[in-house]
Amino acid sequence: MRCPFCGNIDTQVKDSRPAEDHAAIRRRRFCPACGGRFTTYERVQLRDLVVIKSNGRREDFDRDKLERSIRISMQKRPVEPERIDQMISGIVRRLESMGETDLNSKMIGEIVMESLARIDTVAYVRFASVYKNFQAADDFDKFVSELRPADKPEPES
Ligand SMILES: [Zn+2]
Repeated sequence: MRCPFCGNIDTQVKDSRPAEDHAAIRRRRFCPACGGRFTTYERVQLRDLVVIKSNGRREDFDRDKLERSIRISMQKRPVEPERIDQMISGIVRRLESMGETDLNSKMIGEIVMESLARIDTVAYVRFASVYKNFQAADDFDKFVSELRPADKPEPES
């Protein structure tokens, strides 16, 4: 695994343990070249999923992008990180078990909103309000940047 800090490919695993109720293996890694430490997760991938955007473009499904958008909408919400991990794994499992490898981006957004609505209303509203403006734009990175809350302070909960 390549070191994300210096690019060295010879990194060492220091510790491996089950995570997310044994749905993943978490590995702590160490880079002897720069001393950097980072974590990787190993997960079952049942299918190679492809996202079909509304403009017809195809893109490999990227769990990290999905996770980023969900974490941003969850920012500063009183929800345990473990619970967010479980929700994300649940969404991915649902997508993988749909029986199709091609997934409509709109359908993915709806599944995410459904899951968020069950866990945290504020996060759901954040996600949904951006999502509604986003359906035409269909650029996930843009979507994530719009989701990022403005710099104004939020009340502590
Ligand atoms: Zn390094």
